Amino acid sequence: MSRLKACIVVIALTLAVYGVYGSPGPHAAQDANPKTTKPADVDSARITRADKEPGNWMSHGRTYSEQRFSPLKEVNDKNVAGLGLAWYYDLDTNRGQEATPIVVDGVMYFTSAWSKVFALNAATGKQLWSYDPKVPPEWAVNACCDAVNRGVAVWKGKVFVGTLDGRLVALDAATGKPVWETLTIDRKHRYTITGAPRVAKGKVIIGNGGAEMGVRGYVSAYDAETGKMAWRFYTVPGDPSKPFESPIMEKAARTWTGEWWTGGGGGTVWDSIVYDPDLDLLYIGVGNGAPWNQRIRSPKGGDNLFLSSIVALRPDTGEYVWHYQETPGEMWDYTACQQIILADIAIEGKARKVILHAPKNGFFYVIDRTDGALISAAAYTQVTWATGIDMKTGRPIEAENARYKDDAPVPILPGPLGAHSWQPMSYSPLTGLVYIPVQDAGFLYKSPDDFQMKNLASNYGVDLVAAGMPQDPAIKKFILDSVKGSLVAWDPVGQKQVWTVSRPGPWNGGTLSTAGNLVFEGTASGHFEAYRADTGERVWSFAAQTGVMAGPVTYTVDGEQYVAVLAGWGGVFPLVTGEVSFKSGRVRNISRMLVFKIGGKASLPPMPEFAEQALSPPPATADEATVKNGERLFQRYCASCHGDVAVSGGLVTDLRYSKTLANEQWFGIVLGGNLKKLGMVSFSKELSRKDAEAIRAYVIFRANQSADEAKVKGKK
Ligand code: CA
Repeated sequence: MSRLKACIVVIALTLAVYGVYGSPGPHAAQDANPKTTKPADVDSARITRADKEPGNWMSHGRTYSEQRFSPLKEVNDKNVAGLGLAWYYDLDTNRGQEATPIVVDGVMYFTSAWSKVFALNAATGKQLWSYDPKVPPEWAVNACCDAVNRGVAVWKGKVFVGTLDGRLVALDAATGKPVWETLTIDRKHRYTITGAPRVAKGKVIIGNGGAEMGVRGYVSAYDAETGKMAWRFYTVPGDPSKPFESPIMEKAARTWTGEWWTGGGGGTVWDSIVYDPDLDLLYIGVGNGAPWNQRIRSPKGGDNLFLSSIVALRPDTGEYVWHYQETPGEMWDYTACQQIILADIAIEGKARKVILHAPKNGFFYVIDRTDGALISAAAYTQVTWATGIDMKTGRPIEAENARYKDDAPVPILPGPLGAHSWQPMSYSPLTGLVYIPVQDAGFLYKSPDDFQMKNLASNYGVDLVAAGMPQDPAIKKFILDSVKGSLVAWDPVGQKQVWTVSRPGPWNGGTLSTAGNLVFEGTASGHFEAYRADTGERVWSFAAQTGVMAGPVTYTVDGEQYVAVLAGWGGVFPLVTGEVSFKSGRVRNISRMLVFKIGGKASLPPMPEFAEQALSPPPATADEATVKNGERLFQRYCASCHGDVAVSGGLVTDLRYSKTLANEQWFGIVLGGNLKKLGMVSFSKELSRKDAEAIRAYVIFRANQSADEAKVKGKK
C-alpha cells in the first residue's frame, strides 16, 4: 500500500469514527480527552441518526421512534449464555426504580427514586458525579405511585431531570452542577413528576402526574439553554367562566358536563411524550379523569376530551394538530400515557407511518400518525369493559354495565393497574413483533355512597371498601388466582399474539429487543432474563435479588457490548395492592444498576439477612361500627401507601406490625406529623382524633385477623 493510500485509509477511518457523527460509543470516557470531548453532546441531528451510532443510547427509547430496539448483535441468541455481570452500582434508596439509563460516549446518566441523578463510567461503573435535588420527603404523599422517576434527557452538554416536587432541573453534564431550575407546577395543587423529559428542537418537554389528586393535566416546553417556558398545552378544559387558553380548549369543553373543573379534570401526561422528526409532530399520551368516576366528574356524560387520548401537537408552539381518544368518557383509570412507539410498517401492502400503542385499557392500537386515524385495534389480553372497537367510528363497544351504574360492585378487566403500564414495550423491525409486559388484574368498581368533589385527595370517586380484598378464603383465592402477568410477543399487523411467556403475577419489567434475536426483560420475582425474539425460548437468566421493572438498554464501550438494567422493586403495585402484590413473588427492594457483558465476572454480594416478623397485635376490643368506620377511612387515606386492607407490599411500614398500635405515638404520627421527615405527613386536616382512633381500631382488627389466619395456615 502506498503512503498516500495508507494516509487516505487512516483519514477515512478517523472520519468514520470521529467525523460525521461526532464521537461515537467506542470511545469511552476514560480514554477521551475531557478538554476536547464535551459530555452528553447530543442534538436533534444526532438523535435522528441514532442508528448510525448504535453504541450509544442517547434518548429515552434510544431513537426518537422509541422502539427500544438496538441494532447491536455482539450479544446474540448464540452466545448469550456467556453473559455475566460486568459491574453493579448500589443506590441509597429503597423505593421503586423505574429509570431507563441514557448512555453517550461511554458515560451513563440515570435517575433513582427521589429524582436523584447519577453519571457513571459506562464501562466500569465508577461514579463521575451525582446530584440530589433534595425532594422534601413529605411531597411523596402527593404521589399516587411511589417516589419513582423514569430517567433523564440529555442535550448539548446538559442533563435534564423532572423532580417529584415539580421542578425541571438542567445539570452540567460534566459536573452534575445545576445550570438552571424552574418550577413547572403550582404547589397549591398535588402535582408530581415521575416521567423522563424529552428534548426536541432545543426544547425540553415535560408533563406531570396527579389525576388521582384532583389536578388539571398539561404538558410544557422549556428552552433547553435558559429554562424559559416556551409553551404549555392543557389536556382538559378549565373553568369555562374564564377565557379558554386556546380554541381547541373551547371545543374540548363541549364534551364535558357539570362542574368538572372543580375537580381538576385530570388528564395528566405522566409518561409518554414522543417527537416525530418525519412529520415534525409531538405526540403525548393523556391520562385518566379526576376523579375516575365519570358520573361524579361529568354527570351528564360526554367524551371528556382529551382524557385517555393520544394528542399530536406542533413541537414549536404546542398547537393542537389531531387526537385519537382511546377511552371516551373514561371511568376506570384507563390512561393513554403508556409508551408511544413510532414505526413505518407495511399494512395490506401499503407503507404506513404508524403509532403502536398498548394502553391500560387492554386494546392494541395501530394509528396513522399523519392524521390520527385508527388503522386497527384488538384486545391484547383479557378485556371485559368492551367487546371490541368499532372500526367505523373508532370507538369502543362498551360491555353492559361497564359503567358500574348499580349498587353492586362490578368486576372489570383490566383494573386501574392496566393491562400494560409504564414498563416500556419494544418493537423489533427484524421480527415485526412488539414485546409487551402484559398484566391481568381486575378491579371491583362501585360508585361511592358519599362523595364530594372538593375533597379529591386520595378519593377516586369509587368505593375503595367494596374494592378491597375480601377476607373470605374462597373469594380471596379466586381473586388471587385470576391475577397474572405475561410477556407477550404481538404481531401489530395481524393483531395477534405470536408467543407468550407466563409470569406468576403482574408488574414485570420493560423490554429491550436487539438485532441479536434477543428480548431482555426483568421480572417481578427477581430475575433478569433473555428470550429468543422469534420464538420466545428462554436463553438466559440472572438472579437479581430484587424485582426488576425498568426498561433495559444496551450500548458499547471500546467495541464491547453491555446490557444494563436498573433493579429495585417498588412502584404503585407493591405500594397499593397489598396481598395481591405477593403473587409476583415476595421480593424486597435492593436498588442497584446491573450491567452485563459476555464473560462478565462480577458477582453480587450475598442477600442481606431478613427475619420474618411475628404478628403480636394488641387485642381487638373496638365495636364493629368503629372498625367499619376505620376501614372506610383507612381505604381512603392510608391504603394508597400502606396497602389495601392494611397489608403492605413491603415498601413502607406494614401497620399491622406497628408498635404504635398499642400507644399514644400513633396519634403523634397520624395527626402530629412526627414522621414527616420519612414522608409520613400529618393528616390532621383530613382526620379528627376520633377518626385516627377508628383507623387504629381497624388496623388492630386486621392484625388479629391476619394472626389468626397465620395460625390456621401453621396448623395445616
Ligand atoms: Ca391514574
